[in-house]
Amino acid sequence: MGKERGAEERTRMVEYLRQQGVHEEVLEAMLRVKRHLFVPPERSDQAYGDYPLPIGEGQTISAPHMVAMMCDYLDLKKGDKVLEVGAGSGYHAAVIAELIGEEGHLYTVERIPWLVEFSMKNMERAGYKNVTVTHGDGTLGLPEHAPYDKISVTCAAPDVPPPLIEQLKTGGKMVIPLGGYTQKLYLLEKKNGIERNKKCDVVFVPLIGRYGFRDYE
Ligand code: SAM
Repeated sequence: MGKERGAEERTRMVEYLRQQGVHEEVLEAMLRVKRHLFVPPERSDQAYGDYPLPIGEGQTISAPHMVAMMCDYLDLKKGDKVLEVGAGSGYHAAVIAELIGEEGHLYTVERIPWLVEFSMKNMERAGYKNVTVTHGDGTLGLPEHAPYDKISVTCAAPDVPPPLIEQLKTGGKMVIPLGGYTQKLYLLEKKNGIERNKKCDVVFVPLIGRYGFRDYE
């Protein structure tokens, strides 16, 4: 009987992440998502290395440890309604989709039309139905489905876009990288006000848009 493609490499990647202290639910989700279906075909032999990979248009698929860490901080639960800004390849979205289950839903906004198509195609191939990809400026959020239990921003912003704060439920959590040349990952919790917890240094592509680094066409 032939082995499933990528299974051994994926198990090794997850074992490595376990040693970094990633929580069990996130590890199980990452064991289920076939990352090789989300990277460009010419990069599929690198799909399970713990580093970012180019996906075209100057954009990247985040390193597995970064996806794991951001999912861990959000404490995703079955049934959560989640907003992601920056679908990219759709891999991070697929891990979130696993964690929130069929009873949850992820809305993800991507500004580059080609990546909207790429992420949709990848998610379709991998069989995710609880994800909706939308083309647009994610700095404006997606008010038609708000409020969200959790928000995951996968590109670095100059500051937290006000619409995202408005669209987060009270009691909700947001992860967002902030900064230009030097960036930090923040976990925000919406209580009476917004509680900001600085987590670690990170390197992300810029968030471009109305409340991002510059307007785009
Ligand atoms: N999460 C992705 C994955 O798993 O492949 C990686 C995301 S990549 C690091 C950041 C993405 O954010 C890029 O695809 C980029 O085009 C997108 N982006 C940048 N500014 C945006 C905006 N204002 N709205 C939506 N997407 C944006």
